[in-house]
Amino acid sequence: MAIPNMSDEQMRMALKELEQAIYNHNQWAEAIFSALICRLPPDQRDTRADAHHMCRFGQWFYQVGNTALKDHPGFAEIGHEHERMHQYAADLLRSSIEGVPISITDLDRFVNARKRLHLEIATVQHEFEVALFNLDPLTGTPSRTGMLSTLREQLEFARRERACAVVMMDLDHFKSVNDKYGHPAGDQVLIGFARHIMAHLRPYDKFFRYGGEEFLICLPDTDLHTAGSVIDRLRQELATLSFEAQDKSRFQVTGSFGMCLLDPDMPVEQSIERADKALYVAKESGRNRVVHWDASMGLSGGPGKLA
Ligand code: GH3
Ligand code: MG
Ligand code: MG
Repeated sequence: MAIPNMSDEQMRMALKELEQAIYNHNQWAEAIFSALICRLPPDQRDTRADAHHMCRFGQWFYQVGNTALKDHPGFAEIGHEHERMHQYAADLLRSSIEGVPISITDLDRFVNARKRLHLEIATVQHEFEVALFNLDPLTGTPSRTGMLSTLREQLEFARRERACAVVMMDLDHFKSVNDKYGHPAGDQVLIGFARHIMAHLRPYDKFFRYGGEEFLICLPDTDLHTAGSVIDRLRQELATLSFEAQDKSRFQVTGSFGMCLLDPDMPVEQSIERADKALYVAKESGRNRVVHWDASMGLSGGPGKLA
């Protein structure tokens, strides 16, 4: 969802405020759990009907000055969940004060309300992050908007003899994954693959959703041999990830990879094209493999040249 009329600075502020608000809320929740588990006398304010106005999160929430945040549709939902969660917490604390045993149902009500509150907050945060950092909304991966400028920066390093590997990845038979297991399951595969890759790359590696089920990975300061081992390990790991279909059965998906080094004497677009050609060869030669570009694959032109 687009966030209208918000500058980057306003979005940054909104994210900071949300982060602080979550911290305050977690502190509050820890105190509630301590009071319940250790039977400590609770803060009396937490047993009142207007407890949701009393905690630090509530004090922030009802006085938010950031209009961009206040006008966001998810903000009202955060307020509702927060209020409901406080009612359940107050019920638990009153039972505890009166010495009445707390039922698992009442505890679950509170715990689940807290989870829903976190989900509402995370949803708003995610939207701001997507807009601010040009992230792909489905996978949280940087979208291709900033890809070329990132690669051009790397090209400057490549010109100073700092090799940089460019890798194109495409999921295998992904159309039939959607057809067989359902589109939502396909989405989960994209999310799972992207998460795994983001968690296993080095902090200075770059990763973009190139489009559909294609991703581009850029490994700065990495020669082709090292990049080959890193990517092949990634390929093997991805093939072991297990996903749930709509009918609850489990399935696995593989990916194919094409790679080359960023050529210091060429525009980055041509290096991407080389990686793409190598990817094409990976597909043609059986999928679920990593192929390095070589000159026999050609510089440009269609896949017909590869035959
Ligand atoms: P190949 O092994 O040759 O790559 O075959 P493929 O089926 O993966 O290739 P093809 O390009 O024919 O299909 C890509 C599919 O990816 C088709 C499209 O529906 C699916 N896809 C693209 N974006 C998304 C998405 O965001 N979610 C889901 N679930 N599917 C997507
Ligand atoms: Mg594709
Ligand atoms: Mg594919």
